[in-house]
Amino acid sequence: MLYNSTQNKNEVVSSAQAIAQGISKDGGLFVPQEFPQYDEAALKLFLNTDYKGRAKKIFADFLSDFTEEEINDCVEKAYTAQKFGGENPAPLAFCNLDDKALNILELWHGPTCAFKDMALQILPHLLTKSLKKTYDGKDAVILVATSGDTGKAALEGFKDVDHTKIIVFYPVNGVSPMQKHQMDSQEGQNVKVCAIEGNFDDAQTGVKRIFTTPEIAKKLEDNNMLFSSANSINWGRLLPQIVYYVSAYCDMVNEGKINFGEKINVVVPTGNFGNILASYYASLMGLPINKLICASNSNNVLTDFIRTGVYDKNRHFYTTMSPSMDILVSSNLERLLYKLSGNSDAFTKEWMTSLKTTGKYEVTDEVKAVIKDKFFGGFCDDEQTQATINKLFKENGYLCDTHTAVAVNVYEQYVNETGDKTPAVIASTASPYKFSRSVLQAVAPETELPNTEFDTVDKLNEITKMPVPAPLAGLKDKKVRFTDVTEVDKMQNYVLSALGIE
Ligand SMILES: *Cc1c(COP(=O)(O)O)cnc(C)c1O
Repeated sequence: MLYNSTQNKNEVVSSAQAIAQGISKDGGLFVPQEFPQYDEAALKLFLNTDYKGRAKKIFADFLSDFTEEEINDCVEKAYTAQKFGGENPAPLAFCNLDDKALNILELWHGPTCAFKDMALQILPHLLTKSLKKTYDGKDAVILVATSGDTGKAALEGFKDVDHTKIIVFYPVNGVSPMQKHQMDSQEGQNVKVCAIEGNFDDAQTGVKRIFTTPEIAKKLEDNNMLFSSANSINWGRLLPQIVYYVSAYCDMVNEGKINFGEKINVVVPTGNFGNILASYYASLMGLPINKLICASNSNNVLTDFIRTGVYDKNRHFYTTMSPSMDILVSSNLERLLYKLSGNSDAFTKEWMTSLKTTGKYEVTDEVKAVIKDKFFGGFCDDEQTQATINKLFKENGYLCDTHTAVAVNVYEQYVNETGDKTPAVIASTASPYKFSRSVLQAVAPETELPNTEFDTVDKLNEITKMPVPAPLAGLKDKKVRFTDVTEVDKMQNYVLSALGIE
């Protein structure tokens, strides 16, 4: 299987090259030229295997230049019971809210307690093997822009991995105290963490600019290094996310929640559009999916886009209690637009150029029609987010984080608006303990907020009796290693100096 750039169809690469490079030289994103097709018989085979078995088959179908042995090695190393707290790294929890059944896909049992682990525990293995195939002998420099969770998950995945260095940038006021401490205490010889004086979009734009500046690429090349990306623009991030939708479907069938072949709806709390895109890709491959419900917080640029076909990032940026979704430029939407425009690199390039120059674009009527048919967009604000956490806990004893609550809230809106009772899988993207302050205020508004993050964690635990994940509990005694802060236009100098090649 080959991959091409969304902005230039003549740029064709192998899967190893797509993963090693991260992003195409023209600034476009790599997409598979076709999608494996799973008919009923093929899907049925997935029912009788476990998560790792499902992952191996799906990876093999997309990574045709990897050997079976290589793929098995990656999967076995990534999804261990030890790292994910059990044999199924992505278990389902079932509960009801009013008259609605919620099938909650818990994607946060990994080492950093957010769904990013599902991809970032395997990406380093895919990447080092890809490097060997394509750029043998070079070191990969992983640059990450993070709104909180990607940074830590990437640091954990790449720490002390041979032939890699990783530098993470996060918005100085845009992450939760727990997220900040997870990153500034990171261990490993090959890691650097730096705050930037800007928001997530500034960090992401800065990283993209460094990636595509030829002089910097040359400097790296002279020093036997090359840039790669651990952000969800990297194909090696998206592919692992397809697996858990297929796996969740099989688990629902096996647990008698749906009949084999029955359609499901999928609800995803969305930021950069990677997670929901993976579920769209799963539907293209034959997974019976009816609607994809895209849930946003007050940064509702995607809700407007899905409803009108106009993407306009010229609007107020809100810092919310679901910070991993505080995004106005959703990078992976580019991949959806490419597919929906009939693989048109020309249209995709036109829209992305317009986004860069005017902050805005409008898709064609054909594309609007497909989006309306397949997607539903909705959003809720912080107050509604907390009300949802409270209700879900009070009525069902189920504790969810702020991002998941946005998804639950938008799902309720969807059912109330459409009456569609198709069984729904809701992606739960983080442990509630990653956002303890907001969650505690939601479940116990009368409680006085403790002064420190870890006292807040303890208080939440005392009230809810829900166990604190070990990786978060263990952070309490970790020392701060990184305190750097830089201006957005100095990110480039920071990178060169961190690599010792100014
Ligand atoms: C990254 C993240 C999201 C957004 O996912 P995208 O793939 O960027 O849309 C949602 N919730 C949490 C907790 C996250 O870490």
